[in-house]
Amino acid sequence: MTELLRATILHTTANPFRTEGALAFHADGGLLIRDGRIAACGDFGSVAEPGIPVTDLRGGYLLPGFIDTHLHFPQLRIIGGLGHQLLDWLEQHALPEESRMADLQHAQRIAKAFTRQLAAHGTTTALVFGAHFAPATAELFAAAASAGLRLIGGMVMADRLLRPELHQTPESAYRDGTQLIRQFHGQGRLLYAVTPRFALANSEAMLEVCQALVGEHEGLRIQSHLNENPREIEAVAGLFPWASDYFAVYERYGLCGPLAVMAHNIHPGAGELARLAATRTSVAHCPGSNSALGSGIFPLRRHLDAGVHFALGTDVGGGLGFGMPKEALQAYLVQRLAPEGELLSPAHLLYLATLAGAESLGLTELTGNFVPGKAADLVYLRPPAESALAASLELADSPSRILACLITQAGAESVRQVRVDGQVIHERGMNDSR
Ligand SMILES: [Zn+2]
Repeated sequence: MTELLRATILHTTANPFRTEGALAFHADGGLLIRDGRIAACGDFGSVAEPGIPVTDLRGGYLLPGFIDTHLHFPQLRIIGGLGHQLLDWLEQHALPEESRMADLQHAQRIAKAFTRQLAAHGTTTALVFGAHFAPATAELFAAAASAGLRLIGGMVMADRLLRPELHQTPESAYRDGTQLIRQFHGQGRLLYAVTPRFALANSEAMLEVCQALVGEHEGLRIQSHLNENPREIEAVAGLFPWASDYFAVYERYGLCGPLAVMAHNIHPGAGELARLAATRTSVAHCPGSNSALGSGIFPLRRHLDAGVHFALGTDVGGGLGFGMPKEALQAYLVQRLAPEGELLSPAHLLYLATLAGAESLGLTELTGNFVPGKAADLVYLRPPAESALAASLELADSPSRILACLITQAGAESVRQVRVDGQVIHERGMNDSR
């Protein structure tokens, strides 16, 4: 099946931190989709062919589907738990709520709402922490499959220092992990990620189980947390006296590499940055969460200088909610005020919310921009007619300005259509008057 979408198109064709002119823009653009794949992307006149049906979406903007590289499914209801630092927040908000995932009906209800929220905010691919319980994690995969999302997730593994009901044994984690991998990894748009919660909550025996799972199955992703909070870092150092630093714990168990994503990394040592780069391990930068939990300011320039790859994550529920434009805006704001912060351009922000995520997840062949051959994963943004966003777009006379307007103000109310593999997975008010 072939279809041509006509709208203003914005996407990044390369990493704008390294390449000039990485932002591609077509004011009157055409996106040609054939059998769920991008067949062509350019000015409408150059892409149009006689006989191909045109879907006229003028008045709105086509962007690649957003990619969220860090969030927690069980934490949907605790968004907004302000006023704490990480370890107290875990104790008072996150862990009690995560314990409720033992109830399968609760897990089902949250999984449905969570995956719907991802789609409703234009997120087409997400790397997600599941629950500490295998049945609840299976519900997440099932909900993602029925929502049509690309979801990479895994059961969260832990065997100490949380709450007894959240702890597994290494034996049960191995058994349940193996079962979930067999059931969901590589099924449709789903992939599995081995997910040790963080070094603090995992014994060496549990980290060995993580390593075994990674070794026994092809193409698994890895996700965990790294260097988020000074108290956490100190506690990890006490538990692993042999480790030269926090990242060394994961490295010893092979939990690093081009398919691994470590959330936060706000307080890295120079050696850690060098080894993250050398192992091609990615970082998920979650500025909203970092501000809300007072965790610190992401050393963005040091990551760039060291050559460490990073992309954005919302970190629901330590973060501020769903939606990559909002997260990109947070990244901009934090860097704006940080001593020696970077001035991030709209192209940087779009890249960090799309292509950079695909790079982190080993999905560059598949998604992240509108290069022909990739899947037609896209979000169509059109602001409500009388919104401030619609008004500011009237004045936006350059690609950067348009993008800046969208990043600043486009929430779920502007997300009109979301597609994965060309297939519509979410729609809102498409026929509303313009
Ligand atoms: Zn997290």
